[in-house]
Amino acid sequence: MSKLWYPYAAMENLERNYKVLSGHGPFISVENIKTSEKKDLLDGVSSWWCAVHGYNNSEMNEAIKDQLDKIAHVMLGGLTHEPALKLADKLVEITPKGLNHVFFSDSGSVGVEVALKMAIQYFVNQGKREKSKFISLKKAYHGDTFKAMEVGDDSDFHGAFNHMMKETYYAEIPQGGYFATKEDIEKALKHLKEILEEKSGTIAAFIVEPLLQGAGGFRVYSPKYLDEAYKLCKKYDVLMIFDEVATGFGRTGKMFAANHCEFCPDIMILGKALTGGYIGHAATMTTTEIFEGFYGGGNKAFMHGPTFMGNPLACVAALKSIELFEKNNYLSKISKISKIFSEEFENFENKYVKNIRIFGAMVAIEVYESEILKGAQEFAYNKGVWLRPFGKYLYLMPSYILSEEETKKLCNTIKEYITNIDIY
Ligand SMILES: *Cc1c(COP(=O)(O)O)cnc(C)c1O
Repeated sequence: MSKLWYPYAAMENLERNYKVLSGHGPFISVENIKTSEKKDLLDGVSSWWCAVHGYNNSEMNEAIKDQLDKIAHVMLGGLTHEPALKLADKLVEITPKGLNHVFFSDSGSVGVEVALKMAIQYFVNQGKREKSKFISLKKAYHGDTFKAMEVGDDSDFHGAFNHMMKETYYAEIPQGGYFATKEDIEKALKHLKEILEEKSGTIAAFIVEPLLQGAGGFRVYSPKYLDEAYKLCKKYDVLMIFDEVATGFGRTGKMFAANHCEFCPDIMILGKALTGGYIGHAATMTTTEIFEGFYGGGNKAFMHGPTFMGNPLACVAALKSIELFEKNNYLSKISKISKIFSEEFENFENKYVKNIRIFGAMVAIEVYESEILKGAQEFAYNKGVWLRPFGKYLYLMPSYILSEEETKKLCNTIKEYITNIDIY
């Protein structure tokens, strides 16, 4: 029996076929455990969408090594340090105007927990203790810790805990994709309004994965919905939280999904690509209005403090990652990748394919039954590509350093697999 416990896997599926030896650029070098064959695989999923520079980037490595020779870690309790101060400054500079304060933590899920706790305590500090529940979108995914699970709505991930999820209202997902019309989003807005009208006295915040629902099924929706939803939230004294753990740092074609919208959310969470995929870290950012809600002595202080918050190695990795983004004009790279995805998939049709969604540097192919994707990983391996289909989705969320040829190779591998399946 395996001593190592792997994620999202039943005990009888703990066997692994591929052992990663190293990574370089957009490739992972793996050893096939059964055959001992060694091979480079072009990575289509960038390690759950975080390794945006690919692997083993020499500039990232240097930045971390330099910091390592100074100090690897020190607490932010009673102390401060340059990497954390600089990263806070930089994040305030590059995120939408209005997000002026940064709370660090060690993973996306914890960043979400921090955001939810902030929203609750913001109202507690005003004497509004009853505003303690949340609204989120159906099929949302916000992480695996308890409150993050609860604002999520995905039985595939958290079915075992469904009976404990009682405090969240799930709003309809807006229809019509990114370019939805007013009519397309009307139903979802109406539903949101009904929840707010009836329950806003008990609700602290509406949390969303802005524009792109990731792990819950790669659904894309319109910024118009968010603009209207924000107005409703303001009207009902409910905060708006953007979980940009997946969408942040270019995935949607702009630096942040919030850049597609006309307003600045009250709280925003960054994770995954924050450190260029090097070290787990997250940032929960707020407006000054929220920050000021914690001013004043007594018990107004925000009671949270992860041991590794603001870890210096993570902070220098994030700073270098953002520098590479700017220096190498990643947004133009992302737009090229997106264009290739469109060219390769816009007219691709197949009887097994239900829907194809392309948005920024993401393409998701939804098939009718998960069975259809069973052989996809092995097929891709044989072509020198790493894919990780889950459920009914086969998707690409690659690093941004791909060449045109590499981007096409990822697309073609998927198209070839789907064209050649004949399981019926
Ligand atoms: C991955 C993800 C999280 C959780 O981040 P972890 O670092 O895995 O804890 C939260 N929200 C969204 C939208 C994510 O994609």
